[in-house]
Amino acid sequence: MTYDIAIIGGGPAGLSAGIYGARAKLSTVIIEKMYPGGQAAITHLIENYPGFVDGIGGSELTESMKNQAERFGAKILNGEVEDIKKQASLFYVKLKSETVEGKSIILAMGAEPRKLDVKGEKEFTGQGVSYCATCDGAFYTDMPIMVIGGGDTAIEEAIYLTRFASSVTVVHRRDQLRATKILQDRAFKNEKIKFIWDSVVKEIKGKDMVEEVVLKNVKTGEESSVFVNGVFSAVGYVPNTASIKGLVKLNDRGYVITDDKMATDIPGIFAAGDIREKSLRQVVTAVSDGAIAAVEAEKYIENQEA
Ligand code: NAP
Repeated sequence: MTYDIAIIGGGPAGLSAGIYGARAKLSTVIIEKMYPGGQAAITHLIENYPGFVDGIGGSELTESMKNQAERFGAKILNGEVEDIKKQASLFYVKLKSETVEGKSIILAMGAEPRKLDVKGEKEFTGQGVSYCATCDGAFYTDMPIMVIGGGDTAIEEAIYLTRFASSVTVVHRRDQLRATKILQDRAFKNEKIKFIWDSVVKEIKGKDMVEEVVLKNVKTGEESSVFVNGVFSAVGYVPNTASIKGLVKLNDRGYVITDDKMATDIPGIFAAGDIREKSLRQVVTAVSDGAIAAVEAEKYIENQEA
């Protein structure tokens, strides 16, 4: 069948687009390579999504979004996009096992954690190196761990990890955090959290599991070792745009460029959520993007068929 809207990515942006598309009685498919919910689903607690006074678990929130999209008739399809092509007025989304046809496309593949790109990182991923405190924190009960980064994610994860770890050392490449003040205040007050400033990771070492992290002070060049069992890296995100290079216009950091109607430079292709060039990447802005993209996709289809 040919779908009216083929949404790629089942995070908050894709699910919101699915809710709006399906509720407008458009045939809507959401293609997701893992499980719906995206990065938000692995966030322990989302405190700033309006409507939840005490916050809400990320998996609970995104599960509700998925159920809501399905209630209106959106189909969730498991698969990884290999290629997207336009022929005449239709788009062909190639997955491993099938090709999905759509009259319009919404790109909502989000972003994934940036790698540190240091010796030992790859070897010890899953054996002491993690990119998700909510997923792996409990493995480090009563053990010393390290968090790399100074943004909201790093500080939020450091605070969360103090529930399990004996100590949390935050390593940041500058001497000032990027994280919001409320998170900074909480972290500075937490006795389990220590900070190492102006430093980057040079190497992660161990036998079967992580045992040691070699740091380099960026001001003095001095190297030092910290002995920890876990390293949680939170140094930002990179957009998941590898499969769409050459399809739509990207900025120099790889994010999709859209206008305020979520339209890319290719008519019929829209983008929503963290994959877009934008100033604020949050669940609340992702769901807003998704809603706009679905409504604009509907207008695009109507104009094509008029
Ligand atoms: P981010 O804001 O981009 O911060 C990344 C941090 O990692 C920065 O402190 C950066 O240092 C550091 N960094 C980057 N590359 C590095 C490298 N190669 N080596 C060492 N350090 C490196 O990313 P984020 O914290 O994941 O947040 C992403 C977005 O989600 C932000 O918009 C954030 O506000 C949002 N977010 C919000 C919440 C919340 O509202 N509760 C929670 C999580 C995330 P510099 O500071 O020196 O650049």
